[in-house]
Amino acid sequence: MLEGAAILGRILGVTRLYVGIEINKRDAIAALEQYAGDYGVEVIPLKVQYPQGSEKQLINAITGRVVPAGGLPMDAHCVVQNVGTAAALTAAVKQGIPLVERIVTVTGEVVKYPGNFRLKIGTPVLEAVRFAGGVTEEPGKLILGGPMMGFAQRTFQVPVAKNTSGILLLPERRAVNFRSEGCIRCGRCVQGCPMKLVTCMLANAIEAERYDLAEQNHVMDCLECGSCAYVCPAKRPLVQHMRRAKAEIRRNRQLAAAAAGGKK
Ligand code: SF4
Ligand code: SF4
Repeated sequence: MLEGAAILGRILGVTRLYVGIEINKRDAIAALEQYAGDYGVEVIPLKVQYPQGSEKQLINAITGRVVPAGGLPMDAHCVVQNVGTAAALTAAVKQGIPLVERIVTVTGEVVKYPGNFRLKIGTPVLEAVRFAGGVTEEPGKLILGGPMMGFAQRTFQVPVAKNTSGILLLPERRAVNFRSEGCIRCGRCVQGCPMKLVTCMLANAIEAERYDLAEQNHVMDCLECGSCAYVCPAKRPLVQHMRRAKAEIRRNRQLAAAAAGGKK
């Protein structure tokens, strides 16, 4: 990973390389600090908070810079890459090995031996769970990714993909199917949003399919962290609304660009 970071730094011509790790991962910090200097990388212990791993949060926590609304890391003169990408880069550049495997966290109350596993891309999820010792009881829900940002799956017949960071299995009693109620205007979603978005109003606009209003009110800055949906007492599917709006806006932009291209 450190070597991959150095390769990336050379390709991009950057002057400083950092790896951010939450401060409670002391063993990982100590392990990286042993070698980081050899690759010109500085290890930065970060406050433990959620969300911390998104690029805008990382840039702010490490450099103090702020990515402007609607902007990209480049606007703050930064590039953020995943540690898995950095490690894969070393394998590709030094050994000519394409991305054929990745580290996947297989976890959840019902998993017998939860842990991190190096799995081939395409490994069936059921096989990965078997590799982790199988289950202690019938799982009620499968989520690919983490508990906050992951995607619930309709079926267990899915494979590990290059973006599968985790496999989370919940027991039936935790896989609650709740009904969404109307907004009670408590403001908890607004208080909880790390991007300072007025989430409840955005959700109203999106429910009315007013994606133009959502765009004007910065929905594209949403990290999809799920904090708003987590704290909402009315159980509104807020993060799902944000994802839908972002996808619609991107699609509309592509259509507009294609139409503009056709006119030239
Ligand atoms: S998912 Fe919700 S809390 Fe997280 S950034 Fe988006 S609107 Fe804000
Ligand atoms: S947390 Fe839920 S109920 Fe409260 S203001 Fe936000 S959307 Fe409405």
